[in-house]
Amino acid sequence: MIEVHNLTAGYGKRTALWNIDFSIHFPAFIGIIGPNGSGKSTLLKTILGELIPFTGSISLFGKPISEVKHRLAYVPQINSVDWNFPIRVMDVVLMGRFRPNSWGPFYSKSDREKAAFYLNAVGMSEFSKRQIGELSGGQRQRVFLARALAREADVLLLDEPLAGVDAGSGERILSVLSDYQQQGRSIVMVHHDLLTASTLFDHLVLMQTRLVAAGPIQQVFTLSNLQTAYGTDVSILSDMIHKLGQTPGNLSDHPKP
Ligand code: ADP
Ligand code: MG
Repeated sequence: MIEVHNLTAGYGKRTALWNIDFSIHFPAFIGIIGPNGSGKSTLLKTILGELIPFTGSISLFGKPISEVKHRLAYVPQINSVDWNFPIRVMDVVLMGRFRPNSWGPFYSKSDREKAAFYLNAVGMSEFSKRQIGELSGGQRQRVFLARALAREADVLLLDEPLAGVDAGSGERILSVLSDYQQQGRSIVMVHHDLLTASTLFDHLVLMQTRLVAAGPIQQVFTLSNLQTAYGTDVSILSDMIHKLGQTPGNLSDHPKP
């Protein structure tokens, strides 16, 4: 279970999140959605323990974040990474096997086997010796996904893993996420495409600096909630829901990709 209580967070004097409160049971595939600048990445960073909240608390599996960090794996937003750093694809994935209290940057045979296994899972084996800077956006995203998978964590957190990736990479990423979920593990993913959000997730956290709604998708993905978050013309949103050929109430019946 993830429990977020009274959470307010931001940067310096700037508040990016106000008073967020929700709890969702695991296993779950949770989408964090909302317009640009609504605090999605900030929420993900506080869940990861990367950003210390101004007030409030977050617990996972009934424990504070600081005690469960080893159970989390993170795929950063690709435009937040320095691509000039000279490092090979395989070494990026191996970083996922690093344990803070192990003896230096030495990897065992099993670490290397696991890194190779997950690189293959994302369809990037043939690029293992390439420099990360030489890859396309979609390929980089798959390598960072392999690094996160190599941690073999219980919860995978991703920030817009499908943004700016080619269709082939997108499909591969979704199929890997679907396998991960089928192993009974949980995913928390920032996402900004409403159309696909309605078919991907089983739970949603809908943000607009404050929390609009959180919970099972059929309760959250409603016209009035989406309007509150996006402030968009009603007709655009209702049109979209209409195109899906569904009412929000049965959106969760969509087959998983
Ligand atoms: P989203 O991911 O939903 O687009 P963010 O969580 O990145 O939104 O940002 C929420 C707010 O916090 C925005 O107003 C953004 O400008 C601000 N912000 C994000 N990162 C920083 C930062 N490192 N320093 C200062 N302000 C930031
Ligand atoms: Mg963001």
